[in-house]
Amino acid sequence: MKLYVLDNGHNENDYASLVATPFPLTRENREPKALWVKVPVYTVLVESPQGLVLFDTACHPDCMVDRWAEENKQLTPHFCTVSQQLPNVLKRLGYSPDDVNYVVVSHLHEDHGGCLEFFKKAKIFVHENEFDQTMRKYALKKDMGGYIWKDIDQWIKADLNWELVSADDDMIEIVPNVHILNLGSGHTPGLLGLLVSLPNTGNIILTSDAISTAENYKKKFPGIIYDSQGFLKCVDKVQKLQKKYNAQVWFSHDLEQYNTLVKSDDGFYD
Ligand SMILES: [Zn+2]
Repeated sequence: MKLYVLDNGHNENDYASLVATPFPLTRENREPKALWVKVPVYTVLVESPQGLVLFDTACHPDCMVDRWAEENKQLTPHFCTVSQQLPNVLKRLGYSPDDVNYVVVSHLHEDHGGCLEFFKKAKIFVHENEFDQTMRKYALKKDMGGYIWKDIDQWIKADLNWELVSADDDMIEIVPNVHILNLGSGHTPGLLGLLVSLPNTGNIILTSDAISTAENYKKKFPGIIYDSQGFLKCVDKVQKLQKKYNAQVWFSHDLEQYNTLVKSDDGFYD
């Protein structure tokens, strides 16, 4: 079994959207401070004898051209070279999107579900509450936030093979040594993580935006949030899993951690 980290470019955004109130004002210091930061956007491919599992799908190649609303382009502009676009990174590993058997999409925001439409042959796992809310936004065409109307429209036209993960499910084995983790609500109404058990590297927990950075995890403090109690429950759950499986925890948008990971053009984890 091999695990590849696919570099799909980066976003830039206000640091306060990752970690809320990072620079609280005080009586003595009333000067507001803000930080514009670079955050990685990446996906993970697991090659197992029982099939290919992809975790998340990054942003659509045309996101900054005609896909995203102006608000998204302003708040979280995406930067990606042609070679970093997900279909092209897969190609360098010898695969096309049609070769992927399972996609686990952590949630349906623009930097995680952007390339879903390319995976027409895969079974696509998504949290049922996330799916319900996303389709409601699509139908009503309002309160889209990090959800992209044009992306969702293409998913529907592509007639994707969705597999809804029930809010009551806990862990689901996709193939041996690869489990979906139901991380519940927090950043959005329903998030999925992944637990991958590798013979040499050991166990890796992918949290996606349920816990975006090490700071969120350490401080137990969220960024943009849908359900703050859900976030705290999720941190507890991941802490217990980390202990139980003696696992590494990989966050979705932690540049410092991301810089230490081996990328698919250079190698893999086994
Ligand atoms: Zn994200």
